[in-house]
Amino acid sequence: MLRVDLRALHEGPIEITGVVAADDPLLDDLEFDLAEPVRVRGRLTDSGPGRYYWHGELGTEVAARCRRCLADVPVEISADVRVLFTDDSGADDPAAYIIEPRATELDLGEMVREELILAVPEFVLCREECRGLCPRCGKDLNEGPCTCRPELDPRWAALEELKQRWSKKKE
Ligand SMILES: [Zn+2]
Ligand SMILES: [Zn+2]
Repeated sequence: MLRVDLRALHEGPIEITGVVAADDPLLDDLEFDLAEPVRVRGRLTDSGPGRYYWHGELGTEVAARCRRCLADVPVEISADVRVLFTDDSGADDPAAYIIEPRATELDLGEMVREELILAVPEFVLCREECRGLCPRCGKDLNEGPCTCRPELDPRWAALEELKQRWSKKKE
């Protein structure tokens, strides 16, 4: 599905649609888990000798975890991808993929893998105001405060002691 016969480009751009299964070897050893297969859709255009331009979309859902509270967070991925395949190994375009000179076939697999990695956010939160886990007892602070006492800045500790003495006097 992700291999394109470049000779067919003489007749115009090629539309490519396909699905890569989440357990496809192409997607082995990723740092995130896929909750769905990866949908690939796009168009490959001849863009001069040895140059091919791809404009497409990658879509899937990633099973991520909140960086603060570790809750499962499904993250919808929908990436607009524009890359150049070129046989010019000196190309200084960082978004370019180098292919063999005079290649007759183009494999989109590596590009799909790389662009998917780029599209997945590194820092996922279940929600912006997530309170995370208590670093001492591990309780999920979104469910309420834990019984750990907040650590006091030593400069404030003396003042806190005074306040407590005052409140005792009042009793
Ligand atoms: Zn969270
Ligand atoms: Zn705690």
